[in-house]
Amino acid sequence: MDGAPHPDTHNFKRRGVLFVLSSPSGAGKSTIARKLLASEPELSLSVSATTRAIRPGEQDGRDYHFVSLDRFREMVSAHEFLEWAHVFDQRYGTPRGPVEDMLAAGKDVLFDIDWQGAQQLHQIAGGDVVRVFILPPSMEELHKRLLNRNTDAIEVIDRRMARASNEISHWDGYDYVLVNDDVEQCYAKVRTILAAERLKRSRQTGLIGFIRKLRTPA
Ligand code: 5GP
Repeated sequence: MDGAPHPDTHNFKRRGVLFVLSSPSGAGKSTIARKLLASEPELSLSVSATTRAIRPGEQDGRDYHFVSLDRFREMVSAHEFLEWAHVFDQRYGTPRGPVEDMLAAGKDVLFDIDWQGAQQLHQIAGGDVVRVFILPPSMEELHKRLLNRNTDAIEVIDRRMARASNEISHWDGYDYVLVNDDVEQCYAKVRTILAAERLKRSRQTGLIGFIRKLRTPA
C-alpha cells in the first residue's frame, strides 16, 4: 500500500507505519493501545467493523463500527475491507478507506487486530507493516484478568481462554514479541519499537535529498 510521505520529527519525509498490536484478549493490549494513542499524536487508530454485540462502556464508531451480518457481507462484497476474519464466531474487519485517508494525511496507523489480520495486512503492505505480539505473563494471570474485567459470561471467558492458546501458537508470525508482566514497562517497549521503526532507512524517503545536500561541497 502506498502511503503518502510523512513529515517526521527530523523534517524528513517518510512512509507511514502500519503498526499492528495483537494479543489474546486480556493480555493488556487495549490499555497499551490507549496509552500509545494518547502520547503519539502522529498515530491514529483504525476502527474495525464487527458483527459482535456492543459491550457496556463501548461506543459505536469509537471502539468498533457495530454492524449487522448483512451489512458486513455487503462491505466484503464491495471490497471495503483491507482484511477481515472470523473471530469467536463473529466477523471483524478493517475498513480500507479510513486507513488510506490516515496514511495520506501523514499519520501512522494503529491496528488492534488478530493474527489473521496481521498476516493479511502483511501480504498487502509488506515492509510498511510492523507486527507486535503481546503475551500474558501466564495463563493463570490471563484467566484472572478476564474474570476481573467482568464484561463476559463464564462460558465466553472459557472460549476466550481456549482461543488464547490458539492465538499464542501464531507468535512466530510477528516481528516483535513482548511479555506484559508490567504494563508500564511493556508500554515503554512498544513505544521504543514504534520510534525505531519510524527511523528505519527504508521509511525515510526524504533522506536521499538530505544526504545529497550533505555531500555537496560547500
Ligand atoms: P474483542 O471482541 O475482544 O474486541 O476482539 C476480539 C479479537 O478480535 C481481538 O483479538 C481483536 O484484536 C480482534 N479484532 C478486532 N478487530 C479486528 C479486525 O478488524 N480484524 C481482525 N482480523 N481481527 C480483529
